Amino acid sequence: MKCKICRQKAVAELPQHRMALCQPCYLDWFPSYAKKTIKKFAMLEPDERILVAISGGKDSSALWRVLVDLGYEADAMIIDLGIGDQEGLGLEGEAYSSTSTEFAREQAQLLGRDLWVIDLREQIGRSVPELRRGQRPVCSACGLVKRYFMNRAAFEAGYDCVATGHNLDDEVGALFGNVLTWDTHYLSRQGPVSPLRGERLIKKIKPFCYFTERETAMFSLLAGIPYMREECPNAVGATTITYKELINRLESQAPGTKRRFYDGFLRERDLFRKQEEDVVLQHCLSCGMPSPLETCGFCRLVGDVSVTRFGALGESREESNA
Ligand code: SF4
Ligand SMILES: [Zn+2]
Ligand SMILES: [Zn+2]
Repeated sequence: MKCKICRQKAVAELPQHRMALCQPCYLDWFPSYAKKTIKKFAMLEPDERILVAISGGKDSSALWRVLVDLGYEADAMIIDLGIGDQEGLGLEGEAYSSTSTEFAREQAQLLGRDLWVIDLREQIGRSVPELRRGQRPVCSACGLVKRYFMNRAAFEAGYDCVATGHNLDDEVGALFGNVLTWDTHYLSRQGPVSPLRGERLIKKIKPFCYFTERETAMFSLLAGIPYMREECPNAVGATTITYKELINRLESQAPGTKRRFYDGFLRERDLFRKQEEDVVLQHCLSCGMPSPLETCGFCRLVGDVSVTRFGALGESREESNA
């Protein structure tokens, strides 16, 4: 198998793009394809300051590196969710959150950029496993907490947008789940750029939405990016993983299926948009952040705790010594 560009020995086959590439060509192709995706969806203006929401895993770590290499002002934030650090909660995955935070710190040093570390237990006195609601999977509380702090940290620290490492597999898996339940609320919001904007509501972008999980993993590996291999212990058995496996089977029989499904959805997404236009956002009476109801989902979840007020998140910033 030869590299499509330089005819040297290829190390990566990309069936979705009907080509194979050698290591140097792959390391050139990947950021340039991300740049094209950013342009296609008009995700960024050149001078916008980006806060990359990272988890210490391969996708978000690669995203931070690519955005910095492309010349963007990109810092990052990580939330120490307190997963795997508690005794007696039946969790495997020793110290998952603290280890992922260490990977993030290592990358901040390598890139010479600032990292914001938000410790959930310092903020609300509880970890994600302690926020579980009844029999519901802990991931629903976790997702809500992550979305809240991403927006709040970016707003308080003056960033223009939040970038997340969602890849094509993530997008298609979520889309598949939302179509199965015809969840038009989520369908109306899904996509490479968040449709909802407003005061205190920061733009969210997904520059890796056209890369498969395998393509991102390959880049992280070939580029020598430090990232945590272990998955969150709560990811085991998640329905989104089942959806991804099903879609991977379809993709292996007909390469390009994921991309066609996603692009088809993006073409028709306006079908789901109408109801979203009617949503009027107000400011949560408890924390002041945007909410469709008087009290936002985060404040309803954590109850009456003394959350950090505007500006105070600045204390969480760790400036790079590089
Ligand atoms: S798998 Fe669930 S609990 Fe773990 S980080 Fe992801 S959303 Fe949070
Ligand atoms: Zn090559
Ligand atoms: Zn609130």
